[in-house]
Amino acid sequence: MVTELAVAVGTLLVSEPLMTLVHRFAFHGPLWCSHKSHHEQPTARRIVRNDLLWLWPLSASAALVIFGSPVLAGIGIGGAAYVGAYIFAHDGVAHARFWVPRAVRRMTVFRVVAQTHRLHHRDGRQGVGAPPFGVYAAHLEHRWRLSARYTPPTRLCPPARA
Ligand SMILES: [Zn+2]
Ligand SMILES: [Zn+2]
Repeated sequence: MVTELAVAVGTLLVSEPLMTLVHRFAFHGPLWCSHKSHHEQPTARRIVRNDLLWLWPLSASAALVIFGSPVLAGIGIGGAAYVGAYIFAHDGVAHARFWVPRAVRRMTVFRVVAQTHRLHHRDGRQGVGAPPFGVYAAHLEHRWRLSARYTPPTRLCPPARA
């Protein structure tokens, strides 16, 4: 149990920089046509195409927890916990897609998340996104200009189905 927990905490910490890279190079790259649905409808209360991308890490996590050794199970638990933490801060706090208590939204960590994430959506609903790409560490990414050389996706996507 100690192994699982230690590995889970480590995975949780590694997940933020990893997800930042996935967001920048995959979501704003080959997966842009799925991720675009979030930029077009950032406050949608229903499921948009971008939300379905979570099924990949979540099924991988479930498989690791069910079939894996203690170390792999820890990676699965940490990964799933990060997905939960991401959805809470990004979809709940930053975009108000679901209700989050005001006391939580006012916590410094979540106020900073919401403020810096606004920079990612600075071009609005027709935009292609801008740095920073992280959520919990986005303020550092912004301050250190880590994503300064971002090239926006240029691919044309088929019109979204209703
Ligand atoms: Zn967003
Ligand atoms: Zn984005």
